[in-house]
Amino acid sequence: MSKILDLIKKDSIFEGESNRLLMLLRSLLLLFIPYTCSVGLSLLLHRLMVHALAAFAFALLFLVFFIRSYKVRPPQTCLFTTILCYFYAYYFSTTLGWHFSFYMLFLVGFFLFWFDSSMSIKKKSLISAVTGLLLCFVCMMSPQITAILEPGSAAYAYLTYSNLVFCILFLSVIASFFCLQFVEAERQLYLYNKELKRISETDPLTKLPNRRFALEELKEIEAGYESNDRFVSIAIGDIDFFKRVNDSYGHDAGDYILSSLSGLLNEEMKEHGMVARWGGEEFLFVFDHANGDDSFLLLDTLREKIEHTEYTFGGQRIAITMTFGVEEYGPRVGIDPTIAAADKKLYLGKNSGRNKVVY
Ligand code: GH3
Ligand code: MG
Ligand code: MG
Repeated sequence: MSKILDLIKKDSIFEGESNRLLMLLRSLLLLFIPYTCSVGLSLLLHRLMVHALAAFAFALLFLVFFIRSYKVRPPQTCLFTTILCYFYAYYFSTTLGWHFSFYMLFLVGFFLFWFDSSMSIKKKSLISAVTGLLLCFVCMMSPQITAILEPGSAAYAYLTYSNLVFCILFLSVIASFFCLQFVEAERQLYLYNKELKRISETDPLTKLPNRRFALEELKEIEAGYESNDRFVSIAIGDIDFFKRVNDSYGHDAGDYILSSLSGLLNEEMKEHGMVARWGGEEFLFVFDHANGDDSFLLLDTLREKIEHTEYTFGGQRIAITMTFGVEEYGPRVGIDPTIAAADKKLYLGKNSGRNKVVY
């Protein structure tokens, strides 16, 4: 079974060709072979040699198309398979009779070329119209009551029901591929949208949430905040004398420190809330379930950790410090004034020596 699946799944050698169409064609061609052989066998048992040979010839052609599917472009295999289905339906409908539902193979071919995305809608519509006319013609040409097979014989019963059962099977295979195509397209769209959203909300250098995301989060906190249900504090942190780092060690060293420091900040804030890149070398911290005093203590521990962390870039050891301003959020004050107050405290910290937390 896994070998058959491998045979079906083998990629097209032509770049850019639809593998899904190819897989559908191979699945159908593999089913057509036992189906046409069983029709041939039932006709053979009924001593209808010519028709039995015709059925075996169709089985052989389906086998050839299956083998050729590894070398021929999928749209070509699709066209040949469709044409062969039409010939098969035409031949047996007009010789054995309409009653046996061989015309159902027209529908199988019909849905197959609709599946081929390389064919234009105009061409497909034209072939659809021709198929309709062909079906009417075949219906006219087919004996309504079979003259060759006696009703009640085994072959009569087999052909009557097997054609219906097999054709429903073929149509189910095509329908399931159609369905898979939609599901896959929808999943791809979902993944692209998710990725797009992630990119639009993430700072590329630090991989932290960006200012836009932080503002959205804060808006959500503001909208869902019910007084006394929890404490929220907001802080702004800024690297001290970062311009000197760039000037002394180069811009790449500055970038390296920003991204390494962000990893540390993210790790430390995981359990307390969120940290985002607010801009340049500034970071915004949101402490969920922490009042101003608790946030002050947490930030002071973080400040010490930063002070004692050394970064190595290009063989140089670099240390930095950070200054923070923190403010407790209150629904009466609002988010923007809370951020402004934290910013003011950061400014105070900068003016009073840096490397400190101001609350
Ligand atoms: P202060 O302690 O007053 O904050 O001093 P400072 O030097 O950090 O402040 P200033 O605002 O004078 O300089 C900020 C520097 O941060 C200048 C800018 O080049 C640097 N910077 C901002 N964003 C980036 C970045 O993405 N990469 C690098 N390498 N540097 C950045
Ligand atoms: Mg700075
Ligand atoms: Mg700054």
